Amino acid sequence: MNNPEISPKFGGEAHYTVDGYSGIAFYLIGRAQEYIPETVINECGNVGTYCACDPEENPECWLYSEPEYVDSDTQVIAVMVGDDQRHAVDIDDLTEIPETGYCRECGQTGCTAVVYE
Ligand SMILES: [Zn+2]
Ligand SMILES: [Zn+2]
Repeated sequence: MNNPEISPKFGGEAHYTVDGYSGIAFYLIGRAQEYIPETVINECGNVGTYCACDPEENPECWLYSEPEYVDSDTQVIAVMVGDDQRHAVDIDDLTEIPETGYCRECGQTGCTAVVYE
């Protein structure tokens, strides 16, 4: 079930099933990270002159941005209940399930061994 309006809850506050991993409950530990590569932008620092914007002679004409990681808008890190492997999953693939909808021991949604609010 796809729901683009979902706003993910982190830290085990809510549990989800994930498309492609049916029958298993997940909790979310945070947003996935997206890598933004470094950029260099030409912005002439000598406007009005016949500046050649030569990277060697006119370093003031170049704006450098460090590469960075930013929070993804579309993916989160999900962990299976009873496991510690991390999966990057699309928020669209999450379906929130009730806190009584899965087993806290093994993480399976069909198991009723350890179920409580
Ligand atoms: Zn320049
Ligand atoms: Zn179980």
